[in-house]
Amino acid sequence: MKTFEELGLVPEILKAIGEMGFETPMPIQEKVIPYLLGDNNEVIALAQTGTGKTAAFGLPIIQQINLNHIQPQAVILCPTRELCLQIADDLNDYSKYITKLKTLPVYGGSSIESQIRALHRGVHIVVATPGRLIDLINRKKVNLQSVRNIVLDEADEMLNMGFSESIDEILPHIPENRNMLLFSATMPTEIARITKKYMRNPYEIIIGRKNEGAQNVKHLYYMVNAKDKYLVLKRIADYNPNIYGIIFCRTRKETQEIADALIKDGYNADSLHGDLSQMQRDLVMQKFRIRNLQLLVATDVAARGLDVDDLTHIINYGLPDDVESYTHRSGRTGRAGKTGTSIAIVHLKEKRKIKDIEKIINKKFEQGTIPTGKQICEKQLFSFVDQLEKVKVNEEEIQSIMPSIYRKLDWLDKEDLIKHLISMEFNLLIDYYREADEIEIPQEKDKKSDKKFDKKSRSENRKPEKGNARSSESGYARLFINLGKNSGLGPQNIIGLLNDNIPGRKVNVGKIDLMKNFSFFEVKESDKNRVIQNLDGLKVFGRNIAVEQAQEAPSEDRKKKIEQTNTKKKKEKRRKY
Ligand code: AMP
Repeated sequence: MKTFEELGLVPEILKAIGEMGFETPMPIQEKVIPYLLGDNNEVIALAQTGTGKTAAFGLPIIQQINLNHIQPQAVILCPTRELCLQIADDLNDYSKYITKLKTLPVYGGSSIESQIRALHRGVHIVVATPGRLIDLINRKKVNLQSVRNIVLDEADEMLNMGFSESIDEILPHIPENRNMLLFSATMPTEIARITKKYMRNPYEIIIGRKNEGAQNVKHLYYMVNAKDKYLVLKRIADYNPNIYGIIFCRTRKETQEIADALIKDGYNADSLHGDLSQMQRDLVMQKFRIRNLQLLVATDVAARGLDVDDLTHIINYGLPDDVESYTHRSGRTGRAGKTGTSIAIVHLKEKRKIKDIEKIINKKFEQGTIPTGKQICEKQLFSFVDQLEKVKVNEEEIQSIMPSIYRKLDWLDKEDLIKHLISMEFNLLIDYYREADEIEIPQEKDKKSDKKFDKKSRSENRKPEKGNARSSESGYARLFINLGKNSGLGPQNIIGLLNDNIPGRKVNVGKIDLMKNFSFFEVKESDKNRVIQNLDGLKVFGRNIAVEQAQEAPSEDRKKKIEQTNTKKKKEKRRKY
């Protein structure tokens, strides 16, 4: 492996990147830097973000700038404002000791006037989003006649965002003898068109294999019923106490809903999507970058350009429609030599997509087992104990109050003290998971019965599955009813009972558990008393029904036992008479 010095970089650059902690060149840098330092060299690099590509093109470009000629000599096109700022920042860092070098980011959504003024003062490198650059070209405010290098960074993303025509519009304004450098995580056919049309005999570099996901990313999927997706998301977050990740959702609405739910449930989360103002988005991204946020719930578009290297997890809250988005999403973890995990929370219908993605990324997904409440509590406890061991004790600050605290806790021995500490931190979590039902894993054959149930409820214009999505874990009360499958009771009958017999506001139904001789169903805590008052004692199916609050969510074992006891009791009754 060569050193940066051996790659031919000048001392000013070596000093700056040395201070940034770059010790040895990353593979893409080792290949690209010496090549670009030569003349008339064009490059197509298939490389994900996180491979070190910014320095790969940035360092040689900086080195080749003629500082005395104050005209744009390099243009870097990229898809988003965030990436634009990030690249400009990186270039400024690399050129810290080349003080005369001027780099300017130009992007939409901010004052064009100040960008025009900066261009007028003179710059050497322009980092631009395509739309804004066209605007500046049309206003004749930027002169590109001295440009020697044009970079298309995240070229596939630019095409995805509809910038293909803009690129066609920009390139004729740049002299023909320039070098073009194209960096892309994937190689769709449209890129082949661009390279064919605009590049002369380019040097092709592949970092990782074509269209392959980053090597150090582990891909996991959890197969769940649609109604359990959020609960599984929470379990993943709980099972990974030090998680620092992005949760990708498909729509802005879903993004906001999931973020709201997580915040309400006490997670350190926030949302990032196009319905937020630029200022709100900047604020959220900043909070996330400095790790004031652990979980960022985002849409694909909004998260583009958010440059964070040490994400531990990417969570796909459902899979994206196109496989390329998955590659981009998962490529945000496992960067800069670190390992990461990309998790997909999917339902049965998405199983096919998992196979498609596996083919493209050339890697197998592992099927994850949803952690049980007990496993989560244990994991969190150990993480807490670990932190407890490592916490910095500020001896001086606490010195004066320690004697009175020792006196107060004198009656507790070491074991008791630890138990108290742990309980204080964990009682809530332990209670929550004690009460929570284990999440069932959908089986292929369940598909049919789910459909039947959905169809039936839809035909009655009721939506029990929506109620189910909330489950007793969030503000729902679990009620017992002394009717079961043996009395011909189905989920639609429970909904019918409620619709027909509870006056006033419609009752939202949560999870329904039908047993042979009795059943459980969930209603909102606030509807509980209304439901009991109106249903308890009512005559239905020729029987007086009893409805009361269930004592606790019974485990599968307990349900079986109750059933067995009921059957036994009936037999005994029969025997008596
Ligand atoms: P990029 O692919 O350009 O987004 O770079 C990913 C990350 O790797 C950035 O944080 C860079 O600062 C960092 N990086 C780039 N080159 C090196 C290097 N040679 N040694 C250590 N870190 C690097």
